[in-house]
Amino acid sequence: MTTSSRGTHATTQRKKPSMCQHQPACPTADSADREAARHAAHHPEQGWSLLCNGVLIFEDTGELLPDGQIIAPHRPSGSEQVMTAA
Ligand SMILES: [Zn+2]
Repeated sequence: MTTSSRGTHATTQRKKPSMCQHQPACPTADSADREAARHAAHHPEQGWSLLCNGVLIFEDTGELLPDGQIIAPHRPSGSEQVMTAA
């Protein structure tokens, strides 16, 4: 009789609060770099994208943080930063 102790032991990995399933993890929602997070969902037709860190970012650069905080749009003012359409 074999005690088949198969590898079914529960993974003792701590479940991080982070929602990132990848490495390196995205900047957190309270990080100044939050917009650098990966896009988890992109809905250009609705004008918003959901970032991997839970931030909802709108096409006018406004943001809705996971804690309900709203970031006003902060697109560059003026036409000085026009992209050079090479
Ligand atoms: Zn991520």
